[in-house]
Amino acid sequence: MSSRQSNLASTLHNLDGRNYGNLKQIRGRYSFGPVTVFIDRVQADPFASPSKVRVRVDRADAKFPLDLTTDRADRIAAADYLLRAGNEVLAKLDQRALILGRPGQEVLERTNILIDDAGFEARLLVNLPARGRRILGHQAADILTRDLPDFAERLFLFDRWSDAPAGRGGNTHGPSAEGLTDHVRLHRDQLELRSHLGEAGLIGLVGNGAILPRTSGDSDLPMKSSDAVAFTSPPELEHTVELSSGRTVTGMGIPRGVTVIVGGGYHGKSTILRALERGVYPHIAGDGREWVISDPTATSIRAEDGRAVTGDDISAFINNLPSGSDTRFFSTTNASGSTSQAANLVEAIEAGASTLLIDEDTSATNFMIRDERMRALIPAEREPITPFVDRVRPLLTEQGVSTVLVAGGSSAFFEVADHVIALDAYVPKEVTDQAHELVGVTAADLETAPTGSDPHTGSDSPAAPSFIAAPRVPTAKALRPASKTKTARAKGADRIQFGHDFIDLLAIAQLVDTQQAAGVAEALEYLAEIFDGRTSLTQALGEVEDTLDAEGLDGITGHRDHPGHLTRPRRQEIAAALNRYRELQLER
Ligand code: ADP
Ligand code: MG
Repeated sequence: MSSRQSNLASTLHNLDGRNYGNLKQIRGRYSFGPVTVFIDRVQADPFASPSKVRVRVDRADAKFPLDLTTDRADRIAAADYLLRAGNEVLAKLDQRALILGRPGQEVLERTNILIDDAGFEARLLVNLPARGRRILGHQAADILTRDLPDFAERLFLFDRWSDAPAGRGGNTHGPSAEGLTDHVRLHRDQLELRSHLGEAGLIGLVGNGAILPRTSGDSDLPMKSSDAVAFTSPPELEHTVELSSGRTVTGMGIPRGVTVIVGGGYHGKSTILRALERGVYPHIAGDGREWVISDPTATSIRAEDGRAVTGDDISAFINNLPSGSDTRFFSTTNASGSTSQAANLVEAIEAGASTLLIDEDTSATNFMIRDERMRALIPAEREPITPFVDRVRPLLTEQGVSTVLVAGGSSAFFEVADHVIALDAYVPKEVTDQAHELVGVTAADLETAPTGSDPHTGSDSPAAPSFIAAPRVPTAKALRPASKTKTARAKGADRIQFGHDFIDLLAIAQLVDTQQAAGVAEALEYLAEIFDGRTSLTQALGEVEDTLDAEGLDGITGHRDHPGHLTRPRRQEIAAALNRYRELQLER
């Protein structure tokens, strides 16, 4: 093996100045002391997508503490740490040709770093250097035979961490044992807190001291703490959890049920909701939202006019459309604000959401409410929409689905809210009793309230909405159109190319990591294999998740060796992408 090392270097030196196509021959496996370098794919020309390389170190050489890298959840956190540390190592080596991938604020399962029973592996992309179409062989040798093994040693040889030289840049620190331990422990604590919330009947917790606002609308970094008002829970909703690590977390517990957030414009309502939206994922230390934890199935629901819908049962919300369309199997290539929001909602429930997060800023007003005068003016049989305000309680009582709703412009939801929280200059107050008093409702009324009035009969008798239709079953070829010759590919963070079509992910708020779109694209390919004209969408999503849980992201990719840079999406986001595929075909 060791002879292969000098081979690679001398091969590259010999290739200097030759035609780029000759680089193909360096594919293979090379050994550099404890580091094995795999060159899995070599780009065809300097402008093609980068080459794929991996570096691997065995456990026996890496000597990582077992207690931090054995459990599946710990491995996710440790890999996340190594990814962040790996970027610092690359910065220190000043090697820009090597690309490890950049994570955001969330701790997520990714393919960039793999920790398994046998060892540690980093998957990199590398732009192999050229002048024109000529190989720069000496530079390529530096990258692949000097910097790449050096990177792997600095990152994966735990013994070398302690004496890693401090970064010259001042604020870059190499990996440290303490950093790894803290990272893994924080992740454990966040997961433990999340499972506690479920047991305590809460769908979310916002920790006291949390910094929710971000530096700007296009950044996910926390606002400077000197500018931000740190979160404090109203005493009535305060909830304290003692974690097994010894850490105690106190914050605002949001109980299952219907919670309405009110308050003046610009008082921080959407900021809280957005933090809950992100709270389905663990966060890194210093993010400010480490202790904002939500129901892992919580799904953000918005209006999205223009989207395509295929065979959704939106009849709980929409009936008797002037077009005569059957809203129990509703399809359109161009949904309206209200029909798109209804579709988003029933699809979220189909994908397993037990909490909905809804912001007035991104909702269709006619989907959400209809006031008394409008009800008087437009007879029920002329109005296709049963507004969400009439359905939010049956959703809870019949379907077990909670809602957190931002509504600063209307009191309509007071009568259906278990909790009303008012924000005043970013400070939340519990105002449920006042809100209930204003509309003459008591908590006891809510328990016994009818499950919604039926707009079609105009009577107040409870309608029997069904929020979930018969299971939707994609056809065997649903994701295998004849026109599709290439595998699905993410185009940036918000779009997937799927055959001749593009799937637009822009409205999917909980795709948070730029690599998640690539994860979704792989999941769609995996779903394509499962669909057989009998398996329902829900069952198929379950199968994808089972494989992801058992084998990780590598398990759903068609690639052997180097899967590229992917981040695991939730099943909700996989479903959301599938539902936006304009050519989706269902069995009927
Ligand atoms: P609303 O939805 O109530 O209109 P937003 O949540 O959009 O308000 O917040 C309005 C502005 O206030 C945003 O620029 C946001 O970054 C900022 N902001 C939100 N929460 C805080 C806070 N706790 N401290 C400081 N600024 C905040
Ligand atoms: Mg807002």
